[in-house]
Amino acid sequence: MADFDLIIIGGGPAGLTAGLYAARAGMSTVLFEAKDVGGEILNTELIEDYPGFESVTGAELAQKMADHARKFGLRIETYAPVKQIRLDGDRRVVELADGTIHTAYAVIVTVGGEPTKLGVPGEAEFHGRGVSYCAVCDGAFFKGADLAVIGGGDSAFQEGLFLTRFAKKLYVVHRRDEFRAQQILQDRLLGMDKVSTVTPAVVREIGGDASGVKWIDVQKDGSIERLPVEGVFVFVGFRPVGRYLFADHVDHDQSGYLITDQYMQTSIPGVYAAGDTRAQLAKQVTTAVGDATTAVLAAERYIEELKHAGRAFPKAPREVIARTTERMQLRTFPPGATVIREGDEPDYLYVIAHGDAVVTRRDATGGERVVNELHEGDYFGEIGLLTGEPRNATVRAKTSLEVLAMDLEAFRMLVRSSRATAEDITKVAAARR
Ligand code: NAP
Repeated sequence: MADFDLIIIGGGPAGLTAGLYAARAGMSTVLFEAKDVGGEILNTELIEDYPGFESVTGAELAQKMADHARKFGLRIETYAPVKQIRLDGDRRVVELADGTIHTAYAVIVTVGGEPTKLGVPGEAEFHGRGVSYCAVCDGAFFKGADLAVIGGGDSAFQEGLFLTRFAKKLYVVHRRDEFRAQQILQDRLLGMDKVSTVTPAVVREIGGDASGVKWIDVQKDGSIERLPVEGVFVFVGFRPVGRYLFADHVDHDQSGYLITDQYMQTSIPGVYAAGDTRAQLAKQVTTAVGDATTAVLAAERYIEELKHAGRAFPKAPREVIARTTERMQLRTFPPGATVIREGDEPDYLYVIAHGDAVVTRRDATGGERVVNELHEGDYFGEIGLLTGEPRNATVRAKTSLEVLAMDLEAFRMLVRSSRATAEDITKVAAARR
């Protein structure tokens, strides 16, 4: 078993971006990928909408991203499918299919998904013998053949364009007359003589013989039409698979996409999601890499906060530390700035993450006297939260100061979590009164 700061699951653009940032930040990180690095872009021949790359093959972009991350020291384990993610205190446990266990403070899930199936007779039977979900992978097997591409989105049109290199004739079969693919892709594909549309039409059956697919039956205008084809390339959507990795409940939408907050955190503290497995507007390389950047920066902050909270309250159960960390906010103060003021109503407890603070109290003459100095790992503000009374001292930043602010609800959760923690906090408070 190995323990890391961060485990990234999935080696597509999102995972490799998260890995690049994590490696550059010096986090101990491993990336597990079930197959080879690249993810969904390996199934795309040409990418023409990734800024800076006017036209690049999916395979080349994948290789460049992986090389870039490796150059900064990212450890990438390929052909290492993950079986399950579960929780153990403040650690996230990642079990691989081969039974190996790894742990980390945070996990970023970037596993994408798998193609949606048509669910018609013959589809499963002829999978690999004429039915395909990847033109880039299988198109070259069909030189000079009549082919059909099913679907009306960007994937169907991108892959369809690739298939025109090999196909004698290409049918675009779609359930509506309107296509949702980008106009530029529609113009390119539908402008070719060898391409004809079959719409609105629904595939009912795929048939053939021992050598493979020979026809598809489509329902059009109330009757069944048989199209003689040797290859059927299906692009009718995508099923996100991230949620199936979780042993515990994780929030997802009706289609199974993982729901995150603006920092890409799922409903489980310390577990983030980015890329095609996350609920979002667009499945693009650009959004995947952007969201992965947010996820890794948020994970880095979460891990740091978790470690600070763990050091400040060493006797609290680790899962409570993880849950309170989720509710903490990082605040920064320049030297001389006031964090809490004597007489104010209590609202937060503060844990010092970096820097020093000075504690003062008003004296009888109306002046202020220094009563304490606080350093990294110390906390303050507990008396007000314990008693509900106004602040009995002022705390100012002595140096540039970073504190973790814990709200009352999180503080109560912490105090109730263990008798030893409650006693420690009460003792600190008693010594300061
Ligand atoms: P998509 O945009 O969801 O399109 C799926 C297509 O399949 C739709 O036309 C849909 O029809 C049809 N469909 C769905 N279920 C069907 C069924 N049961 N039977 C028949 N047809 C069915 O999926 P996608 O094309 O895979 O693209 C996914 C995402 O990746 C999109 O956001 C897309 O923009 C992006 N992408 C971008 C590029 C690029 O070059 N930028 C390339 C590939 C993909 P309806 O239209 O009637 O719903």
